Amino acid sequence: MFVYADNAATTSVSKTALDAMLPYLTEYYGNPSSLYAFAQKVAEDVAKARQTVADCLGAKSPREIYFTSGGSEADNQALISAATAGARKGKKHLISTKFEHHAMLHTLKKLEKQGFEVTLLDVHSDGVVRLEDLEAAIREDTCLVSVMFANNEIGTVQPIKEIGALSRSKGIPFHCDAVQAVGHMPINVEEMNIDMLSLSGHKFHSPKGVGALYVRRNIPLFNLIEGGSQERGKRGGTENVAGIIGMAAALKESCDNMEANSAKICAMRDKLFAELGKIPHSKINGSLEHHVPGTVNMCFEGIEGESLLLMLDANGICASSGSACTSGSLDPSHVLLSLGLPHEVAHGSLRLSIGEYNTMEEIDHIIEVVPRVVAYLRNMSPVWDELEKGQRKHLI
Ligand SMILES: *Cc1c(COP(=O)(O)O)cnc(C)c1O
Repeated sequence: MFVYADNAATTSVSKTALDAMLPYLTEYYGNPSSLYAFAQKVAEDVAKARQTVADCLGAKSPREIYFTSGGSEADNQALISAATAGARKGKKHLISTKFEHHAMLHTLKKLEKQGFEVTLLDVHSDGVVRLEDLEAAIREDTCLVSVMFANNEIGTVQPIKEIGALSRSKGIPFHCDAVQAVGHMPINVEEMNIDMLSLSGHKFHSPKGVGALYVRRNIPLFNLIEGGSQERGKRGGTENVAGIIGMAAALKESCDNMEANSAKICAMRDKLFAELGKIPHSKINGSLEHHVPGTVNMCFEGIEGESLLLMLDANGICASSGSACTSGSLDPSHVLLSLGLPHEVAHGSLRLSIGEYNTMEEIDHIIEVVPRVVAYLRNMSPVWDELEKGQRKHLI
């Protein structure tokens, strides 16, 4: 059996998205910036896609949506733009969290080298940011608060509306990396007090290489990419037309079916938690109370996450030990360390992220394979041997 359980890394393109985009790769290949009718039809369809994305986010106007090459670009532009705007007013302090995606953390590092100051909030052992911590971190010269909607490794959801309200009450723009939440959870940028929001198509069944940045009308936006007048001059470069059309179709489909998908995914996820949670010396990471539907993250003591992944692969299961970007390196995930997990425990992590295309039969296959593989690896593990003999203390 083949089971794709890595939907937080990427998803397949839905039939709806594929059907919507195909004509723009063949028939309607005009450049939206050209003046003749053949190309203007394309420009109009891109405008409709922009309206669809705005509607799905509860944005007031399609003029608040800027198409990008994906989540990373949107995160980079949001941060650098807010920092540039802040610096012009002498404000050079940014607040974010310890468990953001690397597109955020590495951009913040770059800004630090350029003379900005960054405070990264703790996420506590449940993977949730505390408002008190944010309030205490805010300074006179804070120019941006940026907190992710849902974490990509452990799936915990942050108190976004409250964070937005607090930031607004202090006159500080609030950016949210919502890549893991868009299409999976209800989002309304007006109700949730969000000033900037990043999203990426390939996390909700659109093609890869397309995303968007929402920017509230009164928030200044500076270019990351210079070029033509596309995206109202804020992001040069001929539009990824087919990608944009496909993304809008996939987003509408995800939002229209959100309740049904969510119920289906949660049932599968809860079974995984219940059954895999029975494995001795295992631990579920992140609060289950504040959680996206599809992400399951656990640690198993005495084994290496990498070995577990290889064995799962041999059994037809695609999973991850952390984010796709960090797997391949032997450092434990910065997300799991930010929860305060010891290195030894964080090393033995497994992320299963399921979607609406998974089936209960596939979940049953995972439930059959994972305990067997964990037991097999523990049998071979010198660390587990020491734990069993009492030469080492169990940490979980
Ligand atoms: C996937 C992801 C990104 C990056 O998006 P890309 O489109 O792959 O560049 C950023 N943030 C989070 C939380 C993600 O899960």
